[in-house]
Amino acid sequence: MMAPNSQQLPVAIVGAGPIGLTTALGLAYHGIPCVVYEDDAPLSSETKAGTLLSRTLEIFRRYGVADQILSQALRVDEIGEIDRRTQKSTFPVLLGDLADETRYPFVINLPQQDLEPILGEAIRLNGLINLRMKHRLLSFEDEGESVTLTLQTPDGVIQERAAFLLGCDGGRSTVREQMGIQVEGTSLPVKYALVDLVVDLDLENPRDYPYLAYFADPVEWMILVRHPHCWRFLYPLAEGVDEPSEDELRDKSLSFIGQVSNVKVINKVTYRVHHRVAARWRQGRAILMGDAAHLITPMWALGLNTGALDASNLPWRLSWFLRGLGAESILDGYEREQRPLAIHGSGEMAEAARHSMSKRFDSVSALSENNWSNAYTRTMLGVKLDVNGINDWSMVVRETRPAVGAGDRLPDYLVHTPAGSQSRIHDLCSGHFTALYFSDVRRRPKVPENLSSLLRHYVVSRFDAPRDSGLRDRSLLDPGSAFFKRLGIATNTLVLVRPDEHIAAVLPLGDNALTASELYEQITGLPLPRSPEPA
Ligand SMILES: Cc1cc2nc3c(=O)[nH]c(=O)nc-3n(C[C@H](O)[C@H](O)[C@H](O)COP(=O)(O)OP(=O)(O)OC[C@H]3O[C@@H](n4cnc5c(N)ncnc54)[C@H](O)[C@@H]3O)c2cc1C
Repeated sequence: MMAPNSQQLPVAIVGAGPIGLTTALGLAYHGIPCVVYEDDAPLSSETKAGTLLSRTLEIFRRYGVADQILSQALRVDEIGEIDRRTQKSTFPVLLGDLADETRYPFVINLPQQDLEPILGEAIRLNGLINLRMKHRLLSFEDEGESVTLTLQTPDGVIQERAAFLLGCDGGRSTVREQMGIQVEGTSLPVKYALVDLVVDLDLENPRDYPYLAYFADPVEWMILVRHPHCWRFLYPLAEGVDEPSEDELRDKSLSFIGQVSNVKVINKVTYRVHHRVAARWRQGRAILMGDAAHLITPMWALGLNTGALDASNLPWRLSWFLRGLGAESILDGYEREQRPLAIHGSGEMAEAARHSMSKRFDSVSALSENNWSNAYTRTMLGVKLDVNGINDWSMVVRETRPAVGAGDRLPDYLVHTPAGSQSRIHDLCSGHFTALYFSDVRRRPKVPENLSSLLRHYVVSRFDAPRDSGLRDRSLLDPGSAFFKRLGIATNTLVLVRPDEHIAAVLPLGDNALTASELYEQITGLPLPRSPEPA
């Protein structure tokens, strides 16, 4: 597969759901033009997901929309488990413990129908993205060097060419069907009901529930989510029961929280529960993402947030390939890293959470050893990718501050920059490769000059770089070695970070060790260009 021909063409994204929109912002962030084709006229106003996890917020920050999203959302620093009988919080997961690790030591509640317009507005303002509503993909032809899409539009059937086709078209994906790819897994006989109530649980009927609370119970359970404008209640429905009325759902909600005054139902929806993943995610120039690739039991907010991990992983790979900076092999890591996370990570975790709701104190409460590791897992900050293809990945963190290795997300610690300001490390690493040399700057470690914006080098030391070290322009101050100690690595270690803030390699520095440029070449399949690259 050649890149140069297709470099002229945009990438086609089918589906303007949250994953299509986020992927478009990701491609534009990496300098790749794209067109998003959406069947519907407006963005979806359907009631769907409601909680975004910390790792997803970090991805939105990278793509430039986190602040807009946060300004509309409710921040939640505690995920609670409530004993229905006593109404007491039993296993609160306190997210404030993550304040060193991330600038988002909280999750947020925001209805999906409020998230999508924020992403849509960011897209409208972005010159590299073209959003075309009322364009339904009918079929496509993969021609090897490009893809031709056939689309139904208000003006009739049209054909358009694209460099790649990204199927972000949801659970009933046309792209997946055209690829002839099966989904593996099951659709459960159970249905879930969701009801949004306007009720004052602060003053008029005071309750002290966390903004995100799981009411576990052997007979029937419920998830409570406080949204910016209402309280959302979610339950399983018994098999074969009729569609519940608004009054029935309201009464069931009150059976969990007790009698309250002035309750108004503003919305309700029932939906099927699936646990299914596509057998393959890429075929030539067509690639599956989000719900088109995986339908995950909607527990612990692992549906949309797992799709956000797809939208974090693929755009930088496509950008490197389409800009002629990476070989085709750079695309392979997408499915290798994301698919096991969806099947055995999010998928199985969500299923375990579903089971544990009806029989408390089992495996899910014991997922991690303490609050910190529980919080790290539940916010998805602990996600580890199989970067080396050795089946070494994880969604669960068991220890407090475990030593990092290849595949881990780089903890977003504070450092002090050559310019004198304080910065989170992701601000210096996102969007390009970064080599961090953990060493004693006074001993003048060999740190290459920053000649390419594709790979940047920094020495990280608790000593400030003297002027005569020649390293002052590429040194980061780490007071008290807090960042170094958090990583749990030895001194004189090179940590290579990918554009998506995941660690690509952790290696000792030394005369015979691989250099950052050699590691870069192994990952991208092409040498680092010699001439400086434009930023
Ligand atoms: C009722 C409900 C409740 C949910 N609750 C939760 C929850 O609490 N937590 C959680 O994490 N997840 C939840 N989910 C799942 C979450 O909403 C999805 O994971 C998320 O919407 C996936 O986003 P997506 O962009 O991949 O797909 P979608 O949101 O399905 O978007 C796909 C888009 O593609 C468009 N499209 C489809 N076919 C074509 C075509 N041929 N041409 C052009 N456009 C096309 C569709 O119109 C749609 O806009 C819930 C889902 C539902 C349905």
